[in-house]
Amino acid sequence: MDIVVSGIRSTGNLHLGNYFGAIRNFVKMQEENPCYFFIADYHSLTTHPTPADLHSSVKTVLVEFLACGLDPEKATLYVQSDVPEVAELYLLLNMNAYVGELERCTSFKEKIRTHPNNVNAALLTYPTLMAADIIIHKAHKVPVGKDQEQHLEMTRTFASRFNRMYNVDYFPEPVAYNFGEDLVKIPGLDGGQKMSKSDNENSAIFLADSPEVIRKKVMKAVTDAGPTEPNQPKPLAIENIFQFLKIFSSTDTYTHFNDLYNRCEIRYGDLKKQLAEDIIVFNNPLREKIEALKNDTDYLGKVARMGAEKARESAAKTIREVREIIGFRSM
Ligand code: AMP
Repeated sequence: MDIVVSGIRSTGNLHLGNYFGAIRNFVKMQEENPCYFFIADYHSLTTHPTPADLHSSVKTVLVEFLACGLDPEKATLYVQSDVPEVAELYLLLNMNAYVGELERCTSFKEKIRTHPNNVNAALLTYPTLMAADIIIHKAHKVPVGKDQEQHLEMTRTFASRFNRMYNVDYFPEPVAYNFGEDLVKIPGLDGGQKMSKSDNENSAIFLADSPEVIRKKVMKAVTDAGPTEPNQPKPLAIENIFQFLKIFSSTDTYTHFNDLYNRCEIRYGDLKKQLAEDIIVFNNPLREKIEALKNDTDYLGKVARMGAEKARESAAKTIREVREIIGFRSM
């Protein structure tokens, strides 16, 4: 049976990109596969080295995981730092990861451009920590968004390199997974390529956003002066807005606004009003569950402890075997 692993950084509230790129698939996969889903709090320090409150950010993501339908009885839900074996595998993988290949990673280049004052070593070795997270459970499938494709390629490189170097057939080479469909990328509302919590808060709609906040964000979404000729191709920001319509609104609504666009009669204000209401209808049940769960400290503690125990059992086994393969022995 294929083992599934995936994680989300604890740098803030979850947004619609996280939901459609990853969590929606977590919920489906937990029904059929052994799944490990974790909150990546070690990872969050690469960009937020002194978080205002690490603990409450982790709790927020746990609450939102559960609100989205992750079931701690079916999947193993855990906090990355509760499983220190991950840090040991990270160290061991770093011995065989080359600086050149890490420097060529697109997300590293992007991060040094956006955070030039904090180019730390862990940012460079982000792909080895991500690889350790995944292969510590000997995963086969990783439900992620399109933005993680390159990291996953590196995970395969590190897994197969380990096998080759130590002459074993130990780690599977994990693949990105989205039920046979293309990997998803949810764009930003700011006209950008990707909805993201770290780069621009206005680009993202969070699962915990109230209807008022959603209306405000959608009305502020980047558009342009409108098409000047019939059937004109849509610029990126407009393409993004139509992608949202496709996801959240009915086919009739999409066709209606698409026809208006093609006839140069579109009024973006009307489109945005409709889109905001459709997003609110989708988001409201999630937000209500978040509200209901967020103060249930006893339950959240129980879930995290149960997850840590199960995840450590699997991780400790891998570390024992990896140590054996490399040649570590007790005196
Ligand atoms: P992160 O928020 O960067 O920790 O990402 C956690 C998960 O959400 C990963 O599987 C990402 O691929 C996915 N994800 C993040 N942003 C997006 C987006 N805009 N579209 C699709 N998936 C996304």
